[in-house]
Amino acid sequence: MVLQLLEYWFYCYSMLVAIYVLLGLAVVQLNRRLGQQKKIQRREPRAGDVRRDVRQSLLSLLTLSLFLGAAITLQQAGYGWRPLAPGWLNNGLMFLLSLVVFDTWFYWGHRLLHWRPLYRRIHAWHHRSVTPTVWSNNSDTFLDNCIIQSYFLLAIFILPIAAPVLVAHKIFDQVTGMVGHSGYEYSPGPLSRFPWPLLGVTFHDQHHQKFHCNYATHFSWWDRLMGTLDPDYDSKLKAFSQQ
Ligand SMILES: [Zn+2]
Ligand SMILES: [Zn+2]
Repeated sequence: MVLQLLEYWFYCYSMLVAIYVLLGLAVVQLNRRLGQQKKIQRREPRAGDVRRDVRQSLLSLLTLSLFLGAAITLQQAGYGWRPLAPGWLNNGLMFLLSLVVFDTWFYWGHRLLHWRPLYRRIHAWHHRSVTPTVWSNNSDTFLDNCIIQSYFLLAIFILPIAAPVLVAHKIFDQVTGMVGHSGYEYSPGPLSRFPWPLLGVTFHDQHHQKFHCNYATHFSWWDRLMGTLDPDYDSKLKAFSQQ
């Protein structure tokens, strides 16, 4: 089982690093071609922010891939819920359910991390970037990952989700998380603002600018319900969509 874990850890790390590097470079290229109009903040990232974030992300992805590799290994060894039978309907249902459960996990875990004693020790690192870049997504401490990203280890005990569906969710989370830190609002549709629950890039960018708002990751439901959504979010996104 240990050898199996090491093997999956290696595969998951290779996959996540490949996404991090390739998508990161693609987003940098795309942003260079876009005008200042699409840029969310006027401020530029500070010198050294990118180097620090890349270094920390390559470390942090070791933890994320360990969680995911451990979930695959444990499920193959018979631990956790028995996954639903494979098939498009079951897989699609589990994928959507996993998005909703993780979004809830992320919202409350993230709010906990903003509690002052935990914030200073664990989460302040992620907020060193006030103007985030695509490289900031995984710039987290080990304990931060233990609180937020441990979902990808424990999901097999929460939902009857098959490991490949959980991996698909992690890929989706990695891609949307990186785009969500890119600093540019590309082409936000109406589904990203009230009454719809999806998110534009502005959502998490505002979290880095203002700290005490927009805590969720996939949907805006929890922030709207708990009154933590930035009051300018919908209007800012609408303004971007009219450009
Ligand atoms: Zn935060
Ligand atoms: Zn962030």
